[in-house]
Amino acid sequence: MAEQSNMPDRPSSQLPEQQQAADPQQSNQSNQGFQNPVAGFGVTFKAMFKKRLTEQYPEQQKTTAPRFHGRHQLNRHPDGLEKCIGCELCAWACPADAIYVEGADNTEEERYSPGERYGRVYQINYARCILCGLCIEACPTRALTMTNEFELADSSRENLIYTKEQLLAGLEEGMVDSPHAIYPGMDEGDYYRGLVTQAAPGTEPQVAVSKGEQPASEEPAGSAVGKAASGEGAGASRGVGA
Ligand code: SF4
Ligand code: SF4
Repeated sequence: MAEQSNMPDRPSSQLPEQQQAADPQQSNQSNQGFQNPVAGFGVTFKAMFKKRLTEQYPEQQKTTAPRFHGRHQLNRHPDGLEKCIGCELCAWACPADAIYVEGADNTEEERYSPGERYGRVYQINYARCILCGLCIEACPTRALTMTNEFELADSSRENLIYTKEQLLAGLEEGMVDSPHAIYPGMDEGDYYRGLVTQAAPGTEPQVAVSKGEQPASEEPAGSAVGKAASGEGAGASRGVGA
């Protein structure tokens, strides 16, 4: 008795059909081999007529979003006194350890902020800062905010450490540079209630002894600055009263 195979017998007429079915597949592949590069060039041609996205920086500068996180700024009260109270909360909030603050006491002879303390040393290291804005959220007096300035790149690490002098806001109309006396008749709370809107008439900057300045009376004899302040030099040079 002849052995029976488990596989069903296929009619020999199916073999040519299978080969016929494989042939269109091969021809499709060869067609795709030709079409793919053409389709690729199609993408190139379409892009040639689209609006260009390239920005011509730095020749043409794009305006940033209004709430862009750029370089920091230390703000002033409307009379010119500083808002920073040297509390260091910004430094503690910073995840990159980029802020260094040293606070000091105000005195009536040398007052930088309306309250008890001010930020004597203030530095931000832009080699570390990630411009996240957590420091400005932590600041209790809105002394620290961020500007839209983003051109912070530099080739030296030292230049990337911004000092208080670089971060402090400029003087606007009605302001007098710190240190100077508190607005007469006002207290610290009045500054935060918005009652001080400009420097009191006759407000003059005090001598910044902590920065190495000397009172006019202690300046060496012959100093042009001392003479100008006392009026002696001007009178002598012009021969007033001669
Ligand atoms: S923006 Fe962020 S990283 Fe930069 S100083 Fe403030 S808290 Fe630190
Ligand atoms: S900037 Fe604000 S948080 Fe930082 S030390 Fe000054 S007052 Fe405090």
